[in-house]
Amino acid sequence: STIATGGSDFGRKHVARGIGRLTDHVIQSGKGSYITLNDGRGEYLDFTSGIGVTGLGHCHPKVSQAAADQCFTLVHGQVSIAFHKPYLNLIERLLPVMPHPSLDSFFFWNSGSEAIEAAIKLVRTKTGRPNIITMQGGYHGRTFGAMALTRSKTVYSQGVAPLMPGVFTTPFPYWHQMGVSPTTSEEEISRQALYQLELVLLQQSAPADTAAILIEPVLGEGGYVPAPPAFLRGLREIADKNKLLLIFDEVQCGFGRTGKYFASEYSGVVPDVLVIAKGLANGFPLSGIVSRKEITDSQSSGSMGGTYAGNAVACAAATASAEVMQEEKVLHNVSVRSAELFAALDELRKEPEVSPHILDVRGVGLMVGVEFSSPSQSTNDPFAAPNGLPNLAARISKRCQEKGLFILTTSLYQVIRFVPPLNITQADMAKGLSIFREAVREVVR
Ligand code: PMP
Repeated sequence: STIATGGSDFGRKHVARGIGRLTDHVIQSGKGSYITLNDGRGEYLDFTSGIGVTGLGHCHPKVSQAAADQCFTLVHGQVSIAFHKPYLNLIERLLPVMPHPSLDSFFFWNSGSEAIEAAIKLVRTKTGRPNIITMQGGYHGRTFGAMALTRSKTVYSQGVAPLMPGVFTTPFPYWHQMGVSPTTSEEEISRQALYQLELVLLQQSAPADTAAILIEPVLGEGGYVPAPPAFLRGLREIADKNKLLLIFDEVQCGFGRTGKYFASEYSGVVPDVLVIAKGLANGFPLSGIVSRKEITDSQSSGSMGGTYAGNAVACAAATASAEVMQEEKVLHNVSVRSAELFAALDELRKEPEVSPHILDVRGVGLMVGVEFSSPSQSTNDPFAAPNGLPNLAARISKRCQEKGLFILTTSLYQVIRFVPPLNITQADMAKGLSIFREAVREVVR
């Protein structure tokens, strides 16, 4: 069949056009930090981790074995019929790594978007108020509620209105969103962003109508920007003062990505609702929200659920992933590899040819963004950024791919995102960085 000999043409013909992708080649397999394509080239180093999912690498033997074993014990244990063991085992495993003991009530679902939907429902039920304040630049998914809260770019929602009402927007403390210079200090940008939030509560959505504030502690698709700890602390104060709930979306930045189990631990700020997915089950579809029992008790029995919610195989894979995180000291690896990554990027940034094109290197752990700036205006560049400037990041990503490395950009600005496996070896990190360095030099030349 055409699939045996390739599959790209078949895919272009029969896979819905709404999905975008980096390449039309077909992935055959994945192992550790590598994926194999059907393009004759074979192995590629994967610095995308399937968009921040396979933190322990592709097909980690312990995770795959746990899932395989579970397949012969119980695949589907409908949570609306009874508890099932993998679900309870997973909660037992996660409780000690939660950012705070108060986060002790769990609801599992399949995708990040669904977990965001669950969070919306929970905060509305608990507070009896309709509105949610989300960050300009934030990404929360593509289902209807999650899409209404997504403010990273319009492609996700264009032409499908009306969206869920009751969403108000305040800028994420990222210089693009604030309209300030890239060199503005964290303190200043936090102060200005908190001021904007106070204005939203005075001018757009009264606290009495507002259920919650939603934020990614590290902005993901919107540019890979950590929220300054002072900003998160300010959010907590404003939420407490106005009796609003605080939701942290750690779908992308959670589960060790930043070198701590949860990114919010860096600020010490505890959310009322924590949203988890992606790295949780290392590739199996599993997401969830974690909150306080006092909050989840506001929901009536039967109001939450879903046929596949908290699937037994996915839960078993997640439990095994949490075990691997501990046994293989993965958080330690993140901090060591992160230091190597930042050191290499600092060196690259010093090169005279490169330095005028790198605006910013930022991030935490293995969630690192490199923001480029285009030197000149160009109108007919196929990689043009929305502001019409040639998008160096998209060109660099393409060049890396030609050299055997998959690496992603982020949404709107010229940002390359580093989101490699959390257990990547020193040799593979060095190999990826060497390809990236060559690609940058070639593209900016
Ligand atoms: N929140 C964040 C921060 C995300 O990065 C994503 C996915 N990129 C989502 C929510 C949505 O998750 P999913 O794609 O699993 O629906």
